[in-house]
Amino acid sequence: MSKKVTKIGVLTSGGDSPGMNAAIRAVVRTALYNKMEVFGIMHGYTGMVEDDIIKMDGRSVANIIQRGGTILKTSRCIEFMQPEGRKKAYENLQKRGINGLVIIGGDGSFRGAQTFSNEFDIPCIGLPGTIDKDIAGTDYTIGFDTAANTAVEAIDKIRDTADAHDRLFLIEVMGRDAGYIALHSGIATGAENILIPEKKTDIDQIIQSLEEKEKRKKLVNIIIVAEGDEFGGADELSKLIKNKLPKLETRVCILGHIQRGGSPSCMDRVLASRMGYHAVESLIEGRHNVFVGIVNNKMNYTPLNEAVKKKQRISESWMQMVKILAT
Ligand code: ADP
Repeated sequence: MSKKVTKIGVLTSGGDSPGMNAAIRAVVRTALYNKMEVFGIMHGYTGMVEDDIIKMDGRSVANIIQRGGTILKTSRCIEFMQPEGRKKAYENLQKRGINGLVIIGGDGSFRGAQTFSNEFDIPCIGLPGTIDKDIAGTDYTIGFDTAANTAVEAIDKIRDTADAHDRLFLIEVMGRDAGYIALHSGIATGAENILIPEKKTDIDQIIQSLEEKEKRKKLVNIIIVAEGDEFGGADELSKLIKNKLPKLETRVCILGHIQRGGSPSCMDRVLASRMGYHAVESLIEGRHNVFVGIVNNKMNYTPLNEAVKKKQRISESWMQMVKILAT
């Protein structure tokens, strides 16, 4: 029989993503409703190791649902990778009586939570907070929708200037080794080509198509390049293209960290609220060491030790669609 969780610690860890605040708010408010005490752990696992932990009440999370970033801050914590660091973290939780944790982060943070709960008897619930949408066990992650929308807005603007000058633009988007932001933002902006790590790119075919388009005077071209693409990003691809087509006016735009910030979209706020609410419900129901996902619009619980990077297999029909719609 699992022990009743009465004091919850909540933290955000690893890369930040828009909607983390909405998730914190949902965790805090649901816990308080259930008469639990809630503690905010600052800077991810660092706050656990260094004892930077604050008591939270309903007002601590007022007016944050619309804000990007995370009020609890985040970090990558090397000390937590070591047993001594995790022991210190445990002692800091123990002295406050914290007996349940909610970890909002990516697969790395989930691995940390799993390791920690293997060593110490504290149930951990994960919430997938990452713009990369690269975790198996959920259709969406907190922050992906906002990041993809930010990319779409920026790409639309770039297309205006590309059109005015008849230029080729190579636009690099984030996603680490996953191509979801590239794929979704590329489709939504009518990009002529989308390069993603999950799919081998036929560079000769791209060059050939650019040559043909040059002849047809279809000079405006937007190519979306995922940062994890095999060519090493948009700069490298640009060098390759310049080599083969020196006359083609080419510009590179790396969207970078704007994709992480900004007010979360309605979808991310709702997703984060649902997941935060169900994280606390899970602890109450005695679920241990799972992360909360949403699959086919239903809550889905995956053991933390199965939290692995989703290896996307983009079906040929998607890529065929991209090609047809871009001609
Ligand atoms: P993300 O959660 O965004 O994938 P990271 O991979 O950087 O980000 O992981 C966040 C933090 O989780 C790390 O800085 C570390 O403190 C902790 N962590 C990751 N993997 C482990 C592990 N195997 N054991 C202990 N802690 C880990």
